[in-house]
Amino acid sequence: MIIRKMKCLVLVQLIACILFTGSTADDEWHYPSPDPTGVINEPEAWGGQCDSGRRQSPIALSRAAAVRGEFGPLIFNNYKLPIRQALLTNTGHSVQVNNNDTSVTIQGGGLPGRYVLDQLHFHWGSEHTIDGVRYALELHLVHHSTLYPTLNDAVAVKNGVAVIGVLFHVAAQPNMHIGTILETAIDIRSVPGQVAPLKAKLAPNSLLPVNRTAYFRYEGSLTTPACAESVIWTVFPESVALSLDQVDQFKVIHDQSGHELVNNYRSVQPLNARSLVYAREWERASDSASGSASTAFPVMGLLLVLLVISKV
Ligand SMILES: [Zn+2]
Repeated sequence: MIIRKMKCLVLVQLIACILFTGSTADDEWHYPSPDPTGVINEPEAWGGQCDSGRRQSPIALSRAAAVRGEFGPLIFNNYKLPIRQALLTNTGHSVQVNNNDTSVTIQGGGLPGRYVLDQLHFHWGSEHTIDGVRYALELHLVHHSTLYPTLNDAVAVKNGVAVIGVLFHVAAQPNMHIGTILETAIDIRSVPGQVAPLKAKLAPNSLLPVNRTAYFRYEGSLTTPACAESVIWTVFPESVALSLDQVDQFKVIHDQSGHELVNNYRSVQPLNARSLVYAREWERASDSASGSASTAFPVMGLLLVLLVISKV
């Protein structure tokens, strides 16, 4: 009798397991867990465009694999203002701060128009790698084109979304702005869907690296389901510092299954038939050449005058 009941229970669990793993609803996706040694062996297998797309993100960044780019300066409008009524949300996949002020925008830097900041969120470790190195944390500042009313509308259009990626490296000193996020995250870390007001003012500008004139640029996708291929990416090679203790505080945030979200980065995707651009303010060899020509001109003029005088 007990054996029959146990067999029945196993069958019910098996059916439940098949039903659960067969589901592809967006809110049921998860990041694969690392094995006991910390290595992630399981592919994401999120389905749809995440698996079939040819212009997916993140990618492995490297100057050696990039082509030279030269755009105008990247302009951050009202990035120095603290985010108004800033709320931190545990999304079950990350922690996210939403922005409702449509005057916080980016433009220039080769972007095809102006883009409004919708939200910022974090991935621990980084999604993009540089020269094969993964960073401790990656901040995504997600913007939508002003040509479309909302982020949801813009996600359906190529270049409708612009994401700025900021990488963080481990250093001795904590980052006080990341500290503001983490102090608030303590109150919401155990319950996905929970929201709390930020415990201190936070301006998006305070999370950016000092040097914003050099960056990687490519066309890709959102890094979470449904992985829409509508994103124009800008990732700075200059990283920002935070402490190891701060990195560990992200890892105890709970996911939608009630487990600690030890990591929430997607594996790097193939570049396929895309160009990776490395843009910076290049020193022009032609400038220095024309400079020497202009200084040489009076000397040549003087020689000509002397030649004429000597013939007179
Ligand atoms: Zn992201």
